[in-house]
Amino acid sequence: MDVLAHGLWGGVGFYARGWKVFLTALLLGMAPDLLSFGMFHLTRPGWIKLRLMGEISGPPPLSTLPAYVFHAYNLTHSLVIWALIFALLWTVRRQMAWLWLAWGLHILCDIPTHSSSYFPTPYLWPFPTPFVDGISWVEPWFMASNYLALATAYIVALLWVGRGNAKGAPRRGGIR
Ligand SMILES: [Zn+2]
Repeated sequence: MDVLAHGLWGGVGFYARGWKVFLTALLLGMAPDLLSFGMFHLTRPGWIKLRLMGEISGPPPLSTLPAYVFHAYNLTHSLVIWALIFALLWTVRRQMAWLWLAWGLHILCDIPTHSSSYFPTPYLWPFPTPFVDGISWVEPWFMASNYLALATAYIVALLWVGRGNAKGAPRRGGIR
């Protein structure tokens, strides 16, 4: 799934909790990709420019990616690592553990939306992972369906917030 959609899915469940909480969940939803591919893009601004100009398209070829992208991808896309951090947060700061679900959702969404030929999701890393040969998220029909589902989810979230405001309930506070 593309990084923006990951962020939007991560944030939608927290939309009614106010902008600060929503933006934190949005960033946590995008973080697994930002901390792996994002680092690569930061160090290759020319690549982004060429892409925006339409001179290149698609993901960067595997041969052009430095080793740290693969290491970071394993770390950020492992449900094992995610669960360890979730358990730690649940023990010390429960409200952050709820937000951490946005990161976990990113990994779960990636498992069926990456083909095995390009960054299949290493969800059991550091243990051997039976990779899923999923559908590729760049397929136009998938992108359209995904954003339609997102639009529906946000309409529901907006209606939920509106209903809370109409009742006078304090729905836009922090996470408790
Ligand atoms: Zn990802």
